[in-house]
Amino acid sequence: MRARVVAFLTVLLLAGCGRLPLPEEPADPQPTATTSSDEPDGTDTPEEFARDIKSAQTVAERYWQGVFEQQGKRFQPVSEVFPYEREGEVNCGRDPLPRNNAAYCSAGDFIAYDVNWAFGVFGQIGDAFIYYLLGHEYAHGIQARLGIQQQFTIQQELQADCMAGAFIGDSARARQLRLDKGDTDELARGLQAVGDDPGQPWFAEGAHGTADQRINAFANGYQDSLKACDL
Ligand SMILES: [Zn+2]
Repeated sequence: MRARVVAFLTVLLLAGCGRLPLPEEPADPQPTATTSSDEPDGTDTPEEFARDIKSAQTVAERYWQGVFEQQGKRFQPVSEVFPYEREGEVNCGRDPLPRNNAAYCSAGDFIAYDVNWAFGVFGQIGDAFIYYLLGHEYAHGIQARLGIQQQFTIQQELQADCMAGAFIGDSARARQLRLDKGDTDELARGLQAVGDDPGQPWFAEGAHGTADQRINAFANGYQDSLKACDL
């Protein structure tokens, strides 16, 4: 089952890339963020991690700016994206952010991430996961801007996965982001790692979705852009 889902996503993502072969040398005068997988993951450095976070934020803001402009709306970026290390170091409203997490906080309109956890995941899974993670949290910021409050947490979460897929797929198609060969596998592994355990009630508080629900939501957005995300 698990292998089938990974194979599905990998084929889907590779098919997505295959429709639009990207040149070796980007002809685009705009800076193109490139996820790099030419080095083994174990050699990824804090500097590279910091660059990827910054780059993911820049590409996400460029993407959502374009989406809002197309709809004649003004876009206000998320106020801040920053790291933390200890539980209670950052509060969202009155709630301390726990370790091993990343979150968008609507009360302060910021994204914060446990830097040690995120760097660990980055080392294990690879840099494409950082784009997914930032893309997912940024999507929560966009939901807040659009006044979207779904009835159940899981609907909010799967929509954010879809929006993250649209952000990555559309940015790759617009050559703002270049996915390397290993990146699609990294994303599949990343989504496997963040799925809920089987048996989690779908309406449970805090539920994000099983691995295959999350992969499906992400893949729909990646392939079909925001029209798949029910905004
Ligand atoms: Zn979320």
